[in-house]
Order: sequence, then C-alpha cells, then structure tokens
Amino acid sequence: MGISVGVIRGNGIGPEITEATLRVLEATGIPFEWVPVAVGDEGMKRYGHPLPQESVRLLKDLKIAIKAPLLVDKFKGRVTCEHEDGGVGIYPSLNNAIRRELELFVDPRPIRGVKGISGRYETLDVHIMREITEDVYSGIEHRIGDDAAECVKLTTRRAAIRVAEYSFDYARRNKRRKVSCVHKANAVSMADGLFLSCFREVAERNRDIESDDYMVDATAYYLAKCPEKFDVIVASNQYGDILSDLAAGLVGSLGLAPGANVGPDGRIVVEASHGAAPDIAGQGIANPIALILSGALLLRHMGEQKWAECVENAVWKVLEEKEALTPDLGGTAKTMDVANAVISHMTI
Ligand code: ATP
Repeated sequence: MGISVGVIRGNGIGPEITEATLRVLEATGIPFEWVPVAVGDEGMKRYGHPLPQESVRLLKDLKIAIKAPLLVDKFKGRVTCEHEDGGVGIYPSLNNAIRRELELFVDPRPIRGVKGISGRYETLDVHIMREITEDVYSGIEHRIGDDAAECVKLTTRRAAIRVAEYSFDYARRNKRRKVSCVHKANAVSMADGLFLSCFREVAERNRDIESDDYMVDATAYYLAKCPEKFDVIVASNQYGDILSDLAAGLVGSLGLAPGANVGPDGRIVVEASHGAAPDIAGQGIANPIALILSGALLLRHMGEQKWAECVENAVWKVLEEKEALTPDLGGTAKTMDVANAVISHMTI
C-alpha cells in the first residue's frame, strides 16, 4: 500500500514547482500516493469555499501534506470557516486559515548559503522557528471610520511556551548549539515582553543549549552584517515572516528557502517560504529548490533520514556546480531542468 500524502498545488508558480518536487520525491522509490486536496480556486470550484471543511478533514486524516503557494488578494484576504460544532474561525488569509484550522503552530525555516552563489553569505546557516498561530496575523483587526484602523498583536503564554519548547527540542535534535529569541520588548513591552519571558523560562529548563535574545531591528542588522551570530532563531509570527525573507534574500533567492508547518499528532504541511510569484508564473522558470528542500523536510519527518539527506546533498551539488540554475540565481535553466539535475545525483 502506498504512503498517502496530501497535495495542494496552489496557483501562480505553485503547479510548476509542485510537479518538479513530486518528481524528485518519486525518485526515492518510496511508494507515495499523491492525494489532491481542494483548496483555493479548486476548493471554490468543488465546494464553493476556498478552504472547505471536507479538505480540512482530509488534511487532518492524511497528517502529511505538501502545499504550494496560494495567491492571496491584498485588501480582501480574509477567510471565514464555519465548524460543525457551530463555531466560526475568521482568518486574515487563506494561508493563515490552513495553518490554524489544522492547529499547526510552528514553521521551521532552515536557510543556508550556497558556495559560489551566495557571495559573502555562503556560510550563512540560520534556522528560523516562526510562531504561526497568533501575533498581528491573528485576524483581530477593525476599521475605525474611514481614517483609522486597529490591529491586535495577540500573544499568549501557551503559544509562546510551545514555540520556545519546540525550538530547544529542534536545536537538540539537529545538533545546533544556540537558540536566540527575537522581540521588541523595549517598545512592545506587554506582548513581546511576555514572548521573551516565556522564552527565558523555557531556556532555564534547557541549559544544555545556549540561549540569548535580540531586538528585531538589531536582528535584521546583524543578519546582514554578521549572520554567524545566529544559529536557531525563535520569533513571533510577523518577525519570523520578515526575517526569513531577509535571510533568503541574503543567500541569493527566495527560491532557496524551505519551510514546514508543524502541528500536533505528527501533523505537518511542508511549503516553501516564498509566495506564488505571479510575476513569473506560467513561464516554467520558477526555482523549485525551496519546495524540493521542503520535500526533504517531509522525508525527515517520515523517518526517511537517509533519503532526506540524499535529496539535500543532490540539491547542494546542483547548486554548487551550477548545473541547472533558474534565472533568479543568474542561470537560464527551467524548473524541470533543476528537478532532473537533482534526480541525477540521488543515490544512497
Ligand atoms: P507572499 O506574501 O505570499 O509571501 P510576496 O508577494 O511576498 O508573497 P513572492 O510571491 O514570494 O512575494 O515573490 C517575491 C519575489 O520573489 C518576486 O519577484 C518573485 O518572482 C520572486 N520569487 C519568489 N519565489 C520564487 C521562486 N521560487 N523562484 C524564482 N523567483 C521567486
């Protein structure tokens, strides 16, 4: 019997990079069975909702899924999900709705530089743990007349402790030496102050791993100036979102930054850190590396450590030897050329 994995093909460059990633995962010989999950336009077409409860149930049953980026309209991204028990979830975007309907709480984003491609950031190696259930993306905001608006930066002890604990566990599992908490507790003393004090509480219980903390503005500066200061970073939702794009830019492209949304009971939805890149969609030139590396995160989650390393090593080889680089990295290769080059190096 095959291993069922949910697949959300997304839009923009989503379908192109999904195709490339599925081909790479199939090259492992693991008997995957791809299960299409109707979300976004597909959800609207089949069920009249961008995130139908049928799809939420399917994703919960499958436990593991690959998700390509989904286009979210600026100004009108809000999604409302009605639950069977009569409850309602209101979310600021479809991506946020998927994470929260599935109770996914942390998005680990490992970003590393590539020899010969990332210039002075070749040795950058930072793993950002982004909290993904609250903060200013909680969807608690409203207009006050025509000329003002208010947005709540929700921070709870439960979520802050949970993401800090995950970060120290992650550091231990991945043989990392330090976890740094990112905040702005001098200006946002209540919300970020709580996030920081929860982090310190968890750090006390994990003294085998070093810990420290930085203001978010200083973190941006140090990431650009001396990224070796950082190892594992834990950050609230928005800071994590912004800093991971920054780190991806420093190493050369958003197309190099993988990610995974992790939740309870072994639930995981892997996805690239980047968006649907509508400016280059449909041309077959999107860089599939971020989603391919996210596929490696899925393999590791499944206990397929050797295959995860094999995919990662094949990716580094293709990049370092500049065998197939898409235009974002200065090359002329097509999306599928990259996938085929990665496959050609996959042996264990
Ligand atoms: P979101 O808000 O959904 O994260 P965004 O509007 O911030 O999306 P992206 O869609 O991530 O932005 O795109 C930002 C820039 O990076 C665009 O110029 C896009 O073409 C480029 N980009 C993003 N992903 C890739 C990729 N996989 N390959 C090549 N270029 C990419």
